[in-house]
Amino acid sequence: MNQPTDDVVVDTAGVGASAPGDVPDELHRWRCTGCGNMTRFDVVPESTTHEFWHLDLAGGATIEDTEVVRERVMSVACRWCGRNDTVEMVLRPGAVVGDR
Ligand SMILES: [Zn+2]
Repeated sequence: MNQPTDDVVVDTAGVGASAPGDVPDELHRWRCTGCGNMTRFDVVPESTTHEFWHLDLAGGATIEDTEVVRERVMSVACRWCGRNDTVEMVLRPGAVVGDR
């Protein structure tokens, strides 16, 4: 059996920016350092969900509840210049870090 390890996902594609892996939150946004784009990105998300499946007696399933357990970004590329090694996570304008 494989021993359980903390499977840290490391992108070895030489991504210098910190963006891939993280989903932008209320404080952060993406920015392409190559062309300055901040609004258009090709994103490959991956999410792990916890779902409540309600099966009827015939075996048909209805998903009645879905909770996102984990969400991350597999890759993010600039829609304008097409590069994926220039997208970085920056603070949103007006973002207040810490307590108000
Ligand atoms: Zn760009």
